[in-house]
Amino acid sequence: MSLALQTFPTVKDANTALQASGTRYLGGGTLVVRAANEGDVSVSDLVRVADPDLARIAVSGGKVKLGASVTMAAIARHPELAALAPAARAVGGPAIRNMATVGGNLFAPAPYGDFAVALLALDAAVVTADGEMPIETFLAGRDRSRAIVAAVEFSLPRAESFRFLKVSRVKPKGISVLSIAALLQRSADGTVASASIALGCMADRPMRAKAAENALLGCKLTPEEIAPALAAAGEGITPITDPIASAWYRAEVLPVHLGRLLLS
Ligand SMILES: Cc1cc2nc3c(=O)[nH]c(=O)nc-3n(C[C@H](O)[C@H](O)[C@H](O)COP(=O)(O)OP(=O)(O)OC[C@H]3O[C@@H](n4cnc5c(N)ncnc54)[C@H](O)[C@@H]3O)c2cc1C
Repeated sequence: MSLALQTFPTVKDANTALQASGTRYLGGGTLVVRAANEGDVSVSDLVRVADPDLARIAVSGGKVKLGASVTMAAIARHPELAALAPAARAVGGPAIRNMATVGGNLFAPAPYGDFAVALLALDAAVVTADGEMPIETFLAGRDRSRAIVAAVEFSLPRAESFRFLKVSRVKPKGISVLSIAALLQRSADGTVASASIALGCMADRPMRAKAAENALLGCKLTPEEIAPALAAAGEGITPITDPIASAWYRAEVLPVHLGRLLLS
């Protein structure tokens, strides 16, 4: 079956074309073109946007704006985005990172979506032609979304307050058993003043570990004080099962790896 590709100068023009049945947006194509090659007949038309703004990284006044077409490779090598480089480098091997975009990662089902896990912990805003919305809201409704993501925006984390961990069985580029991102603000005495923890592979899309976040407040990052947060980490999770790991295994090892991340 043939696959038609149309290029538009603006998101607005492409948004109109995207409403036609069988039409999907083309980011880096690592998932959507693979699906078409593997015989997914629900995809007949692809649209893309040539606007160079979509491939722009802007870092200014502690705020970051990543255009949806920014690749994982571009993030990993950007001198001001060192805190995010581990999350970008977690996505596939070098060839995938050269193609894989921020916008596409937001739509990637588990076990993919490692960079989206980082964006969720950072409480990023997702920008479309209709305005912006919190990433948590976006992820909850992404299956119904027919709008092109133009960019994501978030506050640049300080390197010491942002932690990312991807657990995989095939090193260095296997898919995730699970991934965790945590943004932790601490008071002068070392107690956790605010915590945002996002999990990958603990549902079909990235999710926040809200019970663990609450249990961490006021704690010092010691094995004794984080124990209640680790015990709470499994609340609300419905891990995926795939050839890499079962849901049972993922749930069992989550507190182990969250503990390692918090104590690292
Ligand atoms: C071998 C291999 C290894 C991989 N390893 C990993 C990994 O370790 N971690 C990981 O997270 N992912 C991994 N992936 C999955 C994938 O490469 C990434 O998730 C990537 O970020 C997807 O982005 P893309 O631009 O290629 O998406 P595409 O394939 O272009 O698009 C994916 C979906 O998102 C939609 N979409 C894309 N951009 C937009 C936009 N701006 N607005 C609206 N809709 C949009 C498309 O229409 C499509 O439905 C891997 C893929 C392969 C093939």
